[in-house]
Amino acid sequence: MSKVLRCRDVGTDCGFEARGETAEEILKKVSEHARKAHGFASFPPDLIARFQAAIREEEKGSCGTAPSCGCR
Ligand SMILES: [Zn+2]
Repeated sequence: MSKVLRCRDVGTDCGFEARGETAEEILKKVSEHARKAHGFASFPPDLIARFQAAIREEEKGSCGTAPSCGCR
């Protein structure tokens, strides 16, 4: 089961979603996104904690199979 972090779950009005197998992978993606898309210059521990808290297990795809089927 992969994990997902939705940017709007950390208080933005943004449709970005970071997916990965591990929290580390997602945090890497989302911090890169936050830097480019939201102009974040640094990532203090409390912000990282908010990102970590917002990571969810990926739900099934709209076709009812695994998310990796690409039906989205
Ligand atoms: Zn965003």
